[in-house]
Amino acid sequence: MNILIKEIPSVIDGKTVTTNICIEKDTIRSVGEPPKDFVPDKIIDGKNRLAIPALINSHTHAYMSVFRNIADDLPFNEWLFERIMPLEDTLDAEDAYWGCMLSCIEMIKSGTGTFCDMHMFPRTTPEAALACGMRVVVTRGLSGGNGDVAGGIRRINEAIMEYEEYNCEPLIDFMLAPHSIYTCGKEYIKSVLSLAEKLSLPLNIHLSESAFEVDTCLAEHGATPVEYLLSIGLFEHKTLAAHCVHLTEKDIEILAEKGVSVAANPKSNLKLGNGIAPIKNLLDKGVNICLGTDSAASNNSLNLFGEMNYTALLHKGCTHDASAVSAKDVFRFATENGAKALGLEKLGRIEAGYKADIAILNTDCPQMYPMNNPLSALCYSANGSEVDTMIINGKVVMENRVLTGVDEEEVYYHIEKITKKFRSEKK
Ligand SMILES: [Zn+2]
Repeated sequence: MNILIKEIPSVIDGKTVTTNICIEKDTIRSVGEPPKDFVPDKIIDGKNRLAIPALINSHTHAYMSVFRNIADDLPFNEWLFERIMPLEDTLDAEDAYWGCMLSCIEMIKSGTGTFCDMHMFPRTTPEAALACGMRVVVTRGLSGGNGDVAGGIRRINEAIMEYEEYNCEPLIDFMLAPHSIYTCGKEYIKSVLSLAEKLSLPLNIHLSESAFEVDTCLAEHGATPVEYLLSIGLFEHKTLAAHCVHLTEKDIEILAEKGVSVAANPKSNLKLGNGIAPIKNLLDKGVNICLGTDSAASNNSLNLFGEMNYTALLHKGCTHDASAVSAKDVFRFATENGAKALGLEKLGRIEAGYKADIAILNTDCPQMYPMNNPLSALCYSANGSEVDTMIINGKVVMENRVLTGVDEEEVYYHIEKITKKFRSEKK
């Protein structure tokens, strides 16, 4: 379908220009005067609207939306090992699928077009993303070794199966995800690295998320988690590391030198009492920083507008420098830096030749008046509910806040059913 978005203020290269955006099939054909031979099938009026590249959520666990608000105000280890992991044991693939669907709806409705998902049930994430028309990088969370050899092999086999089954889908890409150093033995990580080499896939890992993780690693290996992974060759592969809250100066040097991308998840880190990632220092060293929400079990929202807002504010507060991380910086984190971290080319900008992933916001609402500075409005004033229309891969997946391919009520019905199961198990 050819879509013309007519005379719309658009965020391009950190500036806002009112322009025409012509979409042909899955690609932005032109920005500016429409080509003479361009015949639109659909015209979207840009009046009182703002076009931005659809946001990129670089770290989440979509199935975990079924755990929203179920285990809060708990320290990280108690939250993960005593509450979340036992709950995960009660989930089946169908529960996980509906959790993914709920997450996709929430993400689309708050302007996200692409997400990087670490999951535990094969097929659930790709099926939900395809049903909703979202772009996704699928990463099966791999854990093993440490006495769980058979489980570790099974998870690797599931990752390969899923990769072979969905890799031809244009909206679906893959990474391999050794979950973390505390759930994977050294030999197990090495076997994942061999597979990454064989399949030419990048890596996704949780890294230096809690002080406990760092202290344990120092005690066991005499090295920080970053130094430890460096020593076993993990960073020889393209890597996206989530969290990176507790880093030494040397760690930051290593991440910068090895070209590791960092997915910051400020709200999750705050809520679990893990701390604040040194974003300003990473930024100063040239590390590619992107943004993730983490899961709805730890955030408890998948709305990237919240992450943009927190990221900008937190680092001004921490560094006592109001210019430390700007609105322009965080918007880049949530768009083109995310695309770079996920290895998705021609994504994250409104530019001819780029993928047609565009979020259109309604600016005719009190928090968006007066529109003195759209980037500031996106970072400091918007809450995501302004997102009115979503185009992903050239297809309108939401219009006037109504999803075009999904029955939202059906999803909520299933989520309620699953949640009742948890409540009755708790009693
Ligand atoms: Zn995570």
